[in-house]
Amino acid sequence: MKYSIPQPVVDIIETLQKASFEAFVVGGCVRDLILEREPKDWDITTNALPEKIIELFPDSFYENEFGTVGVKTPRFIETTDPSHEHPSNNPKEKGSEAGRDIVEVTTYRTESNYEDKRRPKEVTFTLSLEEDLARRDFTMNALAYGPRKNDEWELVDLFSGEDDIQKKIIRTVGNPEERFNEDALRLMRAIRFWTELRNPKAEPSNNWQIEDASFQAIQKLSDNLSAISQERIRDELTKIILSKSPSEGIEMLREAKLLRFIIPELEVGIGVGQNLHHTYTVWEHNLRALATCPSKKLDVLLAALLHDVGKPATKRGNGYHSTFYNHDHVGARMTEKILTRLRFPKSVIQKATLLVDNHLFYYNVDEVTETSVRRLIKRVGLENMADLMAVRIGDRLGSGVPKAKPYKLRHLEYMIDKVSKDPVSVKMLAIKGTDLIEELGIPAGPQIGAILDVLLAETIEDPLLNTKESLLKRASLLKESPMETLRELAKEKIEEKRSEDNEQIKKKHWVE
Ligand code: ATP
Ligand code: MG
Repeated sequence: MKYSIPQPVVDIIETLQKASFEAFVVGGCVRDLILEREPKDWDITTNALPEKIIELFPDSFYENEFGTVGVKTPRFIETTDPSHEHPSNNPKEKGSEAGRDIVEVTTYRTESNYEDKRRPKEVTFTLSLEEDLARRDFTMNALAYGPRKNDEWELVDLFSGEDDIQKKIIRTVGNPEERFNEDALRLMRAIRFWTELRNPKAEPSNNWQIEDASFQAIQKLSDNLSAISQERIRDELTKIILSKSPSEGIEMLREAKLLRFIIPELEVGIGVGQNLHHTYTVWEHNLRALATCPSKKLDVLLAALLHDVGKPATKRGNGYHSTFYNHDHVGARMTEKILTRLRFPKSVIQKATLLVDNHLFYYNVDEVTETSVRRLIKRVGLENMADLMAVRIGDRLGSGVPKAKPYKLRHLEYMIDKVSKDPVSVKMLAIKGTDLIEELGIPAGPQIGAILDVLLAETIEDPLLNTKESLLKRASLLKESPMETLRELAKEKIEEKRSEDNEQIKKKHWVE
């Protein structure tokens, strides 16, 4: 055997072979073997029909309406790559369970009856491996490896896939326009594979390329992407964002004319110049912030990419002195809309929106007070501070003006640490709602929450107030105030802070 195949996969192939069927590992895993990359999952193709496969493997199940069978094996897939959610960690994905892996076994098929430029509604089984390989998207993915007639394991390579892998070329199997016309998801898969495979450090002449005719077909047929569901687009986009070359991937989506169907809002920043703090246009800066953001988390990286998406709409003036007031909040609303449209999970949407909303926090070592850091933590949440810093680092490093002052951020980290024991949320107050009910006889209801909010706002100003005694004393005065006054009192502090910030922003021309 030329390549080393995990034993559970070899076992499945041998079981099929003993029952007189052909069986091969196929597709992405063979590509990854040649590339000496760890395959994310293992697929087997066979001339056995689904019913036969199920019969041979008692621990198996139909995976989808196309008759793919999932065979459960002892766990063997390593997941060192953080971008890859191990199926066993996510039982909904592929029906895995803890301690088990799933190998997909699929009967040779031709896909026909393509409807609406999406994957076919029907599949036709065939007895020919050749036909099965011909329906695959790219030559590098149309390889099979397994025992042939004489039991020797061989590479079956009908479309020069191995050669294309050696030359680092992504090329469709057969006529590119036909193949992209059959299934528009392939348009995105081409860019996603290019992004994942390329080496960020290699010279362009020695790096992955999409073959010319294939790339021209992508551009020509880019409109077809609108037939693809947002969920499937999101899954490909996620892989691009979590790759080692996310900003190159987004740029490639633009060149392929696909980005206008994914995040057109980003393209509005093309050619939008900034001011004395920036050498790059809004578009370039967003991409550079993504490239330099040190986080590996999807929501944080999305926030870095979108952090200035609100700038084109808020730009006032021109040249050196243009301003972008409020672009953080406008950008946050846009981020929420974009990520909702792309059907990202709620948690991702909320987190990215929060980070964009707060990316502009004012921080200057000489001027900042502990109170203002506590206010920032209250607004953002202590658990999100490290992620907010990651967005800010991307913002700074991606600004192209040599003024990144990491000591500022180190100082902020130190301050966060210093005040992190102070009360920054209602939960951290020295009294609870029940204390107000029991000790002061305030009836359970919305007034309790409103009083706690005021107490928190005041304690953030002065953490020494956070004793049971002093809070109860203050609460006994507040309980006479109507709700409206309480709300105003809690809000006032925050408003005060905002206008203070704005003043400073203007004073400093802080427009990042
Ligand atoms: P990854 O490393 O991301 O898993 P992969 O190449 O294995 O990449 P999969 O989506 O797991 O991609 O699909 C497995 C194989 O099925 C592919 O290698 C390809 O041969 C075939 N395939 C998947 N999607 C398509 C498609 N839309 N059109 C044609 N063939 C496809
Ligand atoms: Mg795969």
